[in-house]
Amino acid sequence: MHELDTPTFRLAVAQFDQAAEAMELDHNLRERLKLPQRSLIVSVPVRMDDGRVEVYTGYRVQHDSSRGPSKGGIRYHPDVNLGEVAALAMWMTWKCALADLPYGGAKGGVAIAPKQLSRPELERLTRRYTAEIFPLIGPEKDVPAPDVGTDAQVMAWIMDTYSQQVGYSVPGVVTGKPLSIGGSLGREEATGRGVVYVTMEALRHLKLDIRNTTVVIQGFGNVGAHTARIMQESGARVIAVSDVNGGIHNSSGLDIPELLTRYKTRGQSLRDTKLGDWLSNDELLQLDCTVLVPAALSEVITERNAAKLRCRILAEGANGPTTLDADRILQDQGIFIIPDILANSGGVIVSYFEWVQDVQRFFWKATDIQERLQDILTSAFHRTLQFSVSKKTSMRMAALMSGIDKVAQAHLHRGLYP
Ligand code: GLU
Repeated sequence: MHELDTPTFRLAVAQFDQAAEAMELDHNLRERLKLPQRSLIVSVPVRMDDGRVEVYTGYRVQHDSSRGPSKGGIRYHPDVNLGEVAALAMWMTWKCALADLPYGGAKGGVAIAPKQLSRPELERLTRRYTAEIFPLIGPEKDVPAPDVGTDAQVMAWIMDTYSQQVGYSVPGVVTGKPLSIGGSLGREEATGRGVVYVTMEALRHLKLDIRNTTVVIQGFGNVGAHTARIMQESGARVIAVSDVNGGIHNSSGLDIPELLTRYKTRGQSLRDTKLGDWLSNDELLQLDCTVLVPAALSEVITERNAAKLRCRILAEGANGPTTLDADRILQDQGIFIIPDILANSGGVIVSYFEWVQDVQRFFWKATDIQERLQDILTSAFHRTLQFSVSKKTSMRMAALMSGIDKVAQAHLHRGLYP
């Protein structure tokens, strides 16, 4: 499938095809929803601190906008390409529909290693990228947010650049902003908090007690770190975490507050914190545990390692962490999977709250945010579980089919233009 043909895009389409087949989705809609609505590739020239100009490639892909503005993060990572961004945009469409948010899906990215840039270089890159995708974005059109390699500061630069172009402040153009410019309480931790809420529902369903629950987390960025903290606060024992270099394991439970201070505040490497035994990411995925949370990149659980997983629940904090072949193996093993578009949807749900607050210029308390997040996630979890039981299908297929069905309904009601 031409320019989009990459492993991640193939995975997203294969999942979609499987769900579309099972729900006997209308052929015309199937052809349309397999492809993004709009894809933009931009060149982003950046003056580096030494005076040279480097040109990076950036993307913004909108998969669907039948249910409202498109929504989705911006990723800064060296492996970003059009196919990956298109796959992530498609997953955003199903994710927003599953949670009943009035959005379609989008994603953006720049192929770059953000840690290799100085802060002024990163700011210039972000501002120029924003100027290049400017025709596509806006609070009514397409609303970016943080993803791998971007954070609240990057969102602030996007908000400022957009606002400078139109001549007034537009907080609703991005979510995941700092509080001072219209960010929302609870947004930064939202994805991690959501992972914990749906995991607690899964534990309850499987009649497991959170106090006897051990958790292993791959990835210690925004999602992994908040998941670790909130899991521990909720009574679970987090026994291992990792980042790109590898992980640390302590079977009596890692001291997460201490780990966060040493790793995030003091900038120590996981290994140098000496809070657990060192192990590779491959070894970490195979640890015996109740809950495994992949919270890094896509396609980390594959045919090669799926049979070696020793968890009871797989809570997908990352987007697309499990390949189709691996998915089958995990199901055969009886692992309870909370699929990505459900497990990690806390982020975009609180993004929606942020956007609503920005548009209304009326801000909510932290407890309102947590309650409403838990409410949406708990009901999405139980709707998905019920669907999966009644249709005798996996949680992943149930989640995809519910999301796809809502988008299909919107298309059928609106009709085909012209
Ligand atoms: N990047 C996050 C995701 O993959 C959040 C997107 C958003 O908040 O719009 O779901």
